[in-house]
Amino acid sequence: MKIARIGAAGAEKPAIIESDKAIFVDSLISDWDRKSLSEGALAKIAKADLSKLPRVSTSGVRFGSPISQPTKLICVGLNYLEHIKEAGFDTPPEPVIFMKAPDSLIGPNDQVVIPPNSTATDYEVELAIVIGKRALYLDSPAQSAEHILGYTISQDVSERHWQMERAGQWVKGKSFPTFNPLGPVVVTSDSINAHNLRLWCSVNGEMKQDSNTDDLLYGIDHIVWYISQFMELFPGDVINTGTPFGVGMGFKPPVYLKTGDVLKTGIEGIGEITNKIVAYKGA
Ligand code: MG
Repeated sequence: MKIARIGAAGAEKPAIIESDKAIFVDSLISDWDRKSLSEGALAKIAKADLSKLPRVSTSGVRFGSPISQPTKLICVGLNYLEHIKEAGFDTPPEPVIFMKAPDSLIGPNDQVVIPPNSTATDYEVELAIVIGKRALYLDSPAQSAEHILGYTISQDVSERHWQMERAGQWVKGKSFPTFNPLGPVVVTSDSINAHNLRLWCSVNGEMKQDSNTDDLLYGIDHIVWYISQFMELFPGDVINTGTPFGVGMGFKPPVYLKTGDVLKTGIEGIGEITNKIVAYKGA
């Protein structure tokens, strides 16, 4: 199943995507969010007769973030070996995790706004895990799969100066408004093998990142189990699993995003999203 939210920003309706059609399911569930997922929204849709529900072509409609207002947006850092080298770090002995403001989430093809005074806005393609069932203190990675709703494309936009060169935690460079395009769909875990998917990112048509999720240092099941040792995961929570080699920071000299750039971010079996980079125009 492919889960999406379709409509103008702030007025999206929950939908299911079947081939080139979006089928609206707002008569059956309130939204794709923590509350509805906790109340069994997925099972409800799976057994419903969708044949009489309104539908539109997916071409020309706006996709929103496929999950509405997740309670947490958690990131794994330094999780691909070649990226660890380009970032100048040692291989972490256990997963590096950090938080990003969930308010940074935007629709998959919305514009990314470079913050005022930014000189080092960078891109990161990532496979995102979406949680489907509460998870706390899981006994082993083998228990993780049943807690995963599915997977989507995440663009973990990062301001390197604030992330790396200012005091304190990475959250400073990660949480600006528009800094996390997500979508277009969550592909449910029964419909995809997320352990072996090509993922890529290009800027203005030039391929920058091109890797595979089978290169993850700490894999999907390990990540969910590991994070559950430190916090409770709820339905709709999003986990960015880390980015592969090829970010702008890794070039010598670094090549950062600038106004007018077109960023394309894709994952095999999920799709490709496009973000235009624009300047901040004031509140
Ligand atoms: Mg990242």
